[in-house]
Amino acid sequence: MNSGKIVVCGGGGFIGGHLVADLLKRGVKAADIRAVDLKPFSEWYQKFPGVENIQLDLQGLEACDQATKGASVVYNLAADMGGMGFIENNKCLCMLSVLINTHLLMAAKKYGVQRFFYASSACVYNADKQRDPNITALKEADAYPAMPEDGYGWEKLFSERMCRHFREDFGLQTRVARYHNVYGPHGTYDGGREKAPAAVCRKVIQAKLSGKHEIEIWGDGHQTRSFQYIDDCLYGTEAILNSDILEPINLGSSELVSINQLVDIVEAIAGVKLKRSYNLTAPKGVNGRNSDNTLIKKYLGWEPGTKLRDGMEKTYRWIYDEMTKKK
Ligand code: NAD
Repeated sequence: MNSGKIVVCGGGGFIGGHLVADLLKRGVKAADIRAVDLKPFSEWYQKFPGVENIQLDLQGLEACDQATKGASVVYNLAADMGGMGFIENNKCLCMLSVLINTHLLMAAKKYGVQRFFYASSACVYNADKQRDPNITALKEADAYPAMPEDGYGWEKLFSERMCRHFREDFGLQTRVARYHNVYGPHGTYDGGREKAPAAVCRKVIQAKLSGKHEIEIWGDGHQTRSFQYIDDCLYGTEAILNSDILEPINLGSSELVSINQLVDIVEAIAGVKLKRSYNLTAPKGVNGRNSDNTLIKKYLGWEPGTKLRDGMEKTYRWIYDEMTKKK
């Protein structure tokens, strides 16, 4: 790549913050990194001195111009999103993220950006293929015929296609990964946007600290998912960005667990056993979802491998420290 800024859009968020940390760890100079986010700096999960940190609303074209000027690489990790509780109740806000990716692509084309990474999601997959908890893992072709998650998933699918057409029509080198659930420290664990791994940690910690040994689980607990630790997500993101993989590709763990099993793991880490109640009216998403990793293994000779128990241990410890610090 020619020298130029490496721009992390959504740099104040969970994955964006880790990405900036990882770039620094890999020897990129802080002055060569630009982190951009809508949130006030006080709310960024991670923020590093020397990095050009900017607060911008990337839904606007002018802001995207400012973000991408002088850039050689752009990572688009900015989106108005959250766990099921957020995306099922805020479909319009989720879809408005289309403005972020569209304007970023237009600005990246204008400034001759060399690589553009887009964080898509497993929510693009056809809902019909995710009705059974004993799911057959989703392979990339299962996104079509299209029937993605309402709101959030449609935006992701449309934006994937925009990336494709900017590459085909204008030669902008776009790369797209379909992230399956990512978890780890330095992310949301309360407030309504949290995802299952962080939410379960928070609930178990609350039960442990309060002595009220009960937990409410959204859905019947039999729904299945796979969860990818942040370190694997960062490794895969970089590998996909630098690869010749032109079509959207799964980036997710294939270690399938039910939500009940996820709770078992967190209880074991915390050393407690809780009485479970099931909220069948709460948003729970599809019944089953797993990542078919045939393609990523073929192209990269690698797949996300951090064991769920190991990643959850680190996540639990971080959330526990945050919650007890706050107290
Ligand atoms: P996050 O919410 O922690 O980070 C997203 C960041 O984007 C936030 O800090 C938010 O303030 C910022 N943002 C939102 N609107 C913006 C705007 N108009 N201008 C500038 N910044 C704006 O989420 P994350 O988990 O870090 O996710 C990063 C990306 O990966 C998102 O595109 C998300 O859809 C995708 N993804 C994440 C997961 C996951 O499990 N975390 C799974 C699939 C896909």
